[in-house]
Amino acid sequence: MTTAIHLVKGREKSLRRQHPWVFSGGIQKVKGKPALGETVDVFSADGQWLARGAYSPNSQIRVRIWTFNQDEAIDEAFFIRRIEQARQLRNMLAARDGLTGYRLIAAESDLLPGITIDKYDNFLVCQLLSAGADAQRDNLVAALRHCFPECSIYERSDVSVRKKEGLKQVTGVLHGEEPPARVMIEENGVKIAVDITGGHKTGFYLDQRDSREAAVKYVDGKRVLNCFCYTGGFGLYALKGNASEVINVDVSEPALETARFNAEANGFDLNKAQFVNADVFQLLRDYRDRGEQFDVVIMDPPKFAESKNQLQGACRGYKDINMLAMQILKPGGTLLTYSCSGLMDANLFQKIIADAALDAGRRAQFIERFSQAADHPFDSAYPEGFYLKGFACHVI
Ligand code: SAH
Repeated sequence: MTTAIHLVKGREKSLRRQHPWVFSGGIQKVKGKPALGETVDVFSADGQWLARGAYSPNSQIRVRIWTFNQDEAIDEAFFIRRIEQARQLRNMLAARDGLTGYRLIAAESDLLPGITIDKYDNFLVCQLLSAGADAQRDNLVAALRHCFPECSIYERSDVSVRKKEGLKQVTGVLHGEEPPARVMIEENGVKIAVDITGGHKTGFYLDQRDSREAAVKYVDGKRVLNCFCYTGGFGLYALKGNASEVINVDVSEPALETARFNAEANGFDLNKAQFVNADVFQLLRDYRDRGEQFDVVIMDPPKFAESKNQLQGACRGYKDINMLAMQILKPGGTLLTYSCSGLMDANLFQKIIADAALDAGRRAQFIERFSQAADHPFDSAYPEGFYLKGFACHVI
């Protein structure tokens, strides 16, 4: 018998729509003393079984649902079923886009709350973000070994959100070999080195893949400024798309070194590429003041808003850099701009770009919309899974 959670009357509605979270305020009583991450059964106020999930006593999201099927136990076989299901979509995408690196499990969106797994060649990299995910580590590793016997498994749970769950940050090998400093992956014909142990997140920003590929059609023969380039990303695709010059900017020296390595690994002409270690905010002002001009500016900043009270400041930040970007665009140039802050919805982001255009004294025509890559789906029951949006703007 698993421990029972009884909800406040009326609070079963979101579970009936298969949304995977139970908030602390929705709980009437907890029968027993479930441990951190323990599997619990959730009942409505009138005693109907609703779902089975993981208990997280320190988080406002008190239960994250594993299953809405009463017959389904949370064991190795459960994780094998979920992984195999997620794998179907990824196999399709891997064949379509020539991928040897992709997000295998996108947490709630693949019905595995708190679990992110990226596959880079033969390395699986796990981020366990919640108490439930952490408690299921052994089942998860066993399931991954069953589904991917050829793969090594590495954990990158060095993320601050674990604190809210009462968990420490951990990293290390879970199975097989220690990853080398550079694991090579390929996407859309572009080779990319991934630093699994030391890179950002699990090593690479897989979520921008589709937007990188969409950028190729805007750059032929153009002078491109790639802001927040990380390990090359959009800049590599710009070279693939025959840009005449690509200036890549980031504050991280190791990322820039890898960006240079990646450009070489793809056999691109290094005379066309520059790698600049600078603060984008400062550099854009310098360019504006010096009268530098570009045909295409790519603006892919890190997340500016981590919580609701940071949203206003984030809006100012987005407006500022997009205004500066438009000021250094030639008339008829293209702005490719993105926001990965989930709290900023696409309409608000569009308004910010509109304000930035006004302040820059320019007109922006929205010509294309972007979203997170297809291996980062969002589930119909979990709209929060949509976080990454972007626009191509023709700037007059
Ligand atoms: N476009 C990349 C991902 C960008 S991630 C891709 O396609 O892979 C955001 C990057 O912004 C990180 O590499 C981080 O080092 C860099 N960064 C953060 N703040 C910065 C700043 N003020 N100036 C320049 N780079 C910055």
